[in-house]
Amino acid sequence: MSLHATILTIFPEIFPGFLGVSLTGKALKEGLWSLNAVNIRDYAFDKHGSVDDTPCGGGAGMIMRPDVLGAAIEDNYHGGKIIYMSPKGKPLTQAKVHALSEESELTIICGRFEGIDERVIEEYNIEEISIGDYVLTGGEQAAMIMLDAVVRLLPGVLGNAASTENESFEADLLEYPQYTRPIEWKGRQVPEILLSGHHENVAKWQKQQALQITKQRRPDLLEKNT
Ligand code: SAM
Repeated sequence: MSLHATILTIFPEIFPGFLGVSLTGKALKEGLWSLNAVNIRDYAFDKHGSVDDTPCGGGAGMIMRPDVLGAAIEDNYHGGKIIYMSPKGKPLTQAKVHALSEESELTIICGRFEGIDERVIEEYNIEEISIGDYVLTGGEQAAMIMLDAVVRLLPGVLGNAASTENESFEADLLEYPQYTRPIEWKGRQVPEILLSGHHENVAKWQKQQALQITKQRRPDLLEKNT
């Protein structure tokens, strides 16, 4: 099953951006996923392409209008989830990324200015997703980061050799430290155990390291399992 993403944005020219290179770019060319970036301004009701207006009740900035955004959604929705990239949304996790990689259609709204009119979120039962506790200038960057994480999990994207099972956040652990050649660099050695060829001991060491690093840096991940 391949994924089709419809992006509603006032900057369609940003896409595919970095999604057009490396594994996600190759997968895009091979048709493992597809992308349609729609310009919300095409749905404006005036000749200036206005998509925003001042906030009701006062306050700083501008808000994206529900009528313009609604028209863009209704003309481009092909089923599946509608997601609004939003700092107020649920934080994106690897578990959520896995769930999204099972979808065949995603419609993603990229906000600008101070965000979108709340009634749009209610009317179309929109899910709000945040990529972290900080505020970006627009949802495009957030949508691209979310899609990057989702697309790499689609069947055929990483190839047979690569496996995600030991990666950070799988099994609620951070990944163990990784090394490559040269075996000695600036007086620093690759840990002896990794050169032993003893797969069972290597796996044990990696598990211990993953646990230790997770305990030090992200104890919240371990607490999830207790
Ligand atoms: N006024 C909003 C607030 O305080 O929650 C912030 C609006 S922000 C300047 C403009 C747009 O960037 C948002 O509508 C959203 O689409 C996107 N955005 C900003 N930070 C984000 C984040 N952490 N995760 C996902 N999207 C984000």
